[in-house]
Amino acid sequence: MKRKVIPMKIYDTPHKLNDYLDTHFTCDCGKEHYASLKTVSIGKDALETIPQIVNDLGFKSLYLISDAITYDIAGKRTMEILEAAGIKAKMVTLTHTGFDEATVGELVINMPLDCDVVIAVGTGSINDMTRFFSHRMGRPFFTVATAAPMDGFASSIAAINVNNLKTTYDAQTPVAIIGDTEILKGAPYRMIAAGLGDLLGKYTCLCDWKIAKLINDEHYCTTLVELVENCIQGVLADADKAASRDPEVLGNIMEGLVLTGVAMSLYGNSRPASGCEHHMSHYWEMMFEQAGKRAVPHGTQVSVGTVLILKLVEALKAMDIDFNAAREAAKAYDQAAWEEAIHAAYGPAAPGVIEMEAKAKKNETNARLARIDSMEQNWDGILALLNELPSSETVMDLLRSLNSPCTPAEIEVDEAMLKNTFLYCKEVRARYTILQMVWDLGLLDQLSDQVIKSL
Ligand SMILES: [Zn+2]
Ligand SMILES: [Zn+2]
Repeated sequence: MKRKVIPMKIYDTPHKLNDYLDTHFTCDCGKEHYASLKTVSIGKDALETIPQIVNDLGFKSLYLISDAITYDIAGKRTMEILEAAGIKAKMVTLTHTGFDEATVGELVINMPLDCDVVIAVGTGSINDMTRFFSHRMGRPFFTVATAAPMDGFASSIAAINVNNLKTTYDAQTPVAIIGDTEILKGAPYRMIAAGLGDLLGKYTCLCDWKIAKLINDEHYCTTLVELVENCIQGVLADADKAASRDPEVLGNIMEGLVLTGVAMSLYGNSRPASGCEHHMSHYWEMMFEQAGKRAVPHGTQVSVGTVLILKLVEALKAMDIDFNAAREAAKAYDQAAWEEAIHAAYGPAAPGVIEMEAKAKKNETNARLARIDSMEQNWDGILALLNELPSSETVMDLLRSLNSPCTPAEIEVDEAMLKNTFLYCKEVRARYTILQMVWDLGLLDQLSDQVIKSL
């Protein structure tokens, strides 16, 4: 007989990562929170724990996914460990690395029919693709991390390229995440800095959520916000030691990234970890992809996005807001002109963006006027939230100390792309953010010009 799960009240104060795994919680926010991730093994020689984890969870036939690079870093060694333990395993080393329809095809063609778990050996794209593929095939999956440049490990959504548009799908969280610090410390330094960069983005993303609660009465979870805030403060306190590749600090960074991912699982979407700084990154990734160029790591993009949003906030705070002018801007909104601008800014990805707005209606005038009323009533509260953010200088100093890019020019985003980013990157998602708020106020064009000039 299936045992009935009685959820427990979620902890009042932030706990250790493992305390949040595979446990049902009730919460004052009204939601039940659950993260299905069962095991996190981060530390020295964590790779050696894989056979034990596989046996504990009862898996018999493994399908491992790597590319040529991650095979050398961890795939080969993982296969040796599995073979020595007598565990049946097949490895595919991808030749179609667009992480699109062709990659899905290659995975289907190579999949052993009897496989009962899929294992991603790698990071970002391999992880997302494995999450999507295993979910569609009805198999659970694991991650063996080769670096920790982003927080997507424990997330339940997967971003893959479909019809040239980076598209997110509901998928599943892994059952286990393995981070061997002996492997992580060998990761290129820019990947390490990128992981920290992704954590820095949590400042603006949590601010987005708080503002959305105030303006739109969006659902909000204080416990999860505190959990993520506590985690980033702890990790960033040691950030400077990452430069020396201290394995313990690298393990902590990875744990922080896994925890913010767990927060997304607990909440059921990426609201606790992805806001306007991520929308900038998504937009850049699309643009680089269309241009056939390789973008810098996601976390590096997020750190530059964070700096830009902080600068925009600083420009906004210096303004005397004219809410009547905002109302005029809302009434003057021209859908046809907007669509034309989206075609110019998004190229082949424009139809998907226009279709999304047709559903989301976030630019529609009446809803915008209601938000302007709400902003006028709550402006002091909004300013107080904006004042909690670190200054752009503080974040830039930290990034510079890590030798990581902190300006758009350093990641090959030119002025024209940057202007489109400020004006239109918010259209990649239906989520309310600082960028949408500044647009609602009719100030996005003017303030973004100011920021671009100041760079
Ligand atoms: Zn991220
Ligand atoms: Zn909650």
